[in-house]
Amino acid sequence: ALSSAASDVYKRQKSWRKVLQKLFPRFILIRNDDYIRTQMRQGVNMQGRIVFATGNAGKIKEIRMIMEDTGLEVVSMKDAGIKADIEENGKTYEENALIKARAVAAFTKDIVMADDSGLEIDALNKEPGIYSARYLGEDTPYSIKNANLIQRLEGVPEEKRTARFVCAIAAVLPDGRELTTRATIEGRIGYEEKGTNGFGYDPIFYVPEFGKTTAELTEEEKNQVSHRGKALQLMKEELKKYEEDDIFVIGGGSVYEMMLPYCNTVYVTKIDFAYQADTYFPNLDEMPEWEMTEESEEQTCFDIEFAFTKYERKA
Ligand code: IMP
Repeated sequence: ALSSAASDVYKRQKSWRKVLQKLFPRFILIRNDDYIRTQMRQGVNMQGRIVFATGNAGKIKEIRMIMEDTGLEVVSMKDAGIKADIEENGKTYEENALIKARAVAAFTKDIVMADDSGLEIDALNKEPGIYSARYLGEDTPYSIKNANLIQRLEGVPEEKRTARFVCAIAAVLPDGRELTTRATIEGRIGYEEKGTNGFGYDPIFYVPEFGKTTAELTEEEKNQVSHRGKALQLMKEELKKYEEDDIFVIGGGSVYEMMLPYCNTVYVTKIDFAYQADTYFPNLDEMPEWEMTEESEEQTCFDIEFAFTKYERKA
């Protein structure tokens, strides 16, 4: 009965996935052939690395500090040996961050993250905004860009010089899921450049709470309050949720291993579609140990009874 159910299921795999996702909204459902081939991009890197899609060494340093407590190593595209020519033609920070992350994700099995950020000045109709890096030309020194913005604000009174740095972080996870977060820091545009820390528009971005520009803050101070620091914190929380997700795997019994180390519990059906785990995971012996904790959690879906075997990460 199971094998005829299996072939029936096989034919109906698409609607099937939808129904199960409805029944168990917290669960992702993974099948073991087409879906994995397209979504898993041939396996998960067991090192749990993050490749950050930027060439900016200053940003990598910031991000490494913020991500330190996750135990995930942060490497740049260059460290990962990835060269990608990426055209940032999105209309929002989120779109641009996703464009960058997706482009790099095509080259690696690691978690990929990217950011897109900018400075919005209210009195200038939110300029330079998503064009912050390109404002007055990509290679123009910031002393010139900053002087230009101060000049454009000539005669604008203190209370109308409001501005914010905005940052969106995008992540593409090894199973193909995409996450974005966004955060801002509010401030005012000053009357002259102050401070030598940071980069870009930091010397003219005055933060009232500190009585300083972001170029006068230490790295630690800036990370705590900055747009990028806060957006990364939010992303950390999103990743944590992902880690805690339970995962349903429809298919071969070893498929669950691929989701390691990204979740705690996996349910696997007994229906087996003759799947070769080592096709996707050449480094099977590098995988952490899991144990089977419960047999047969019966669930009914359509007219088919599924027997799920539950696997839990060993403590
Ligand atoms: P992105 O590299 O495409 O995100 O471009 C962001 C641009 O916005 C940078 O090149 C800077 O001009 C500006 N920017 C973003 N974040 C900051 C910051 O923390 N300090 C100063 N300038 C920033």
